[in-house]
Amino acid sequence: MHQRIIRWSTYVVIVLFMANISPVIDSFLHPDIPYFDPEHLLVGGITASITALLLSLLVSHANRMATVAQELSQLNRTLREQTSRDSLTSLYNHRYFQEMLRHEFLLAQRHQTELSCMMLDLDLFKDVNDTCGHPFGDLVLKGTAEQILREARTTDTVARYGGEEFAILLPNTDLEGATRIAERIRTRAEEYIHQDKDVSMRVTISIGLASHHAHTPKNPEELLFFADRALYQAKKAGRNKVVAYSDRVKTELP
Ligand code: GH3
Ligand code: MG
Ligand code: MG
Repeated sequence: MHQRIIRWSTYVVIVLFMANISPVIDSFLHPDIPYFDPEHLLVGGITASITALLLSLLVSHANRMATVAQELSQLNRTLREQTSRDSLTSLYNHRYFQEMLRHEFLLAQRHQTELSCMMLDLDLFKDVNDTCGHPFGDLVLKGTAEQILREARTTDTVARYGGEEFAILLPNTDLEGATRIAERIRTRAEEYIHQDKDVSMRVTISIGLASHHAHTPKNPEELLFFADRALYQAKKAGRNKVVAYSDRVKTELP
């Protein structure tokens, strides 16, 4: 509707403009013909109308193309947003996390900046499902995602890495800073009560950490691998722990 109004008003404006100037142009081109010669006015008017119609069609076509391009780019953004999110928690998904891991690792290497990686895994989550049911398990996953997001910064990439595993990329954050954030997440999870009708429960989280400068991984996969090894160590140490990758972690693991 809006487009149609624009098209027709453009048309009217152009007709009026052309109809007004065509006799003036004519009087310059043919000084012998009287200014208000009806025959010339008619020809001028018809020419002006056709030109105006063509011009207004052109304008409206260009307008429509611009709108379509705008809608397409918005659709593209929405689609990309949807395909990079996990449907249960709305966190980024595994695929997007892998993309960002490679991207942030390259940036950190190029600019010699810090980058930390965190792997998080819910403790004894199978028991939660077994005792309270799968839907309650889903509610715990959503609740945990929200708690993690409260401690993350906008520049961090927070993802649901797998079933009950989460991963976080922390650009410009050294091991010390990442450890502080990990501790805050661990404490938050420990204190949070997941509740649904008459069921309520606390679920703890184990966290493994690795950093670019502290552990000098050769590639993005190794940074993630170090964080995962540290997570394994956190589980071994009794769960509900934050463990950073170290030589000890390296030698103690199979
Ligand atoms: P650990 O402390 O060693 O990590 O023990 P765990 O029980 O958490 O580990 P395990 O790998 O044995 O169990 C993970 C469970 O997570 C098993 C699986 O049914 C559950 N799970 C994975 N994805 C989902 C999901 O989307 N929803 C629910 N409710 N459960 C899930
Ligand atoms: Mg797991
Ligand atoms: Mg687990």
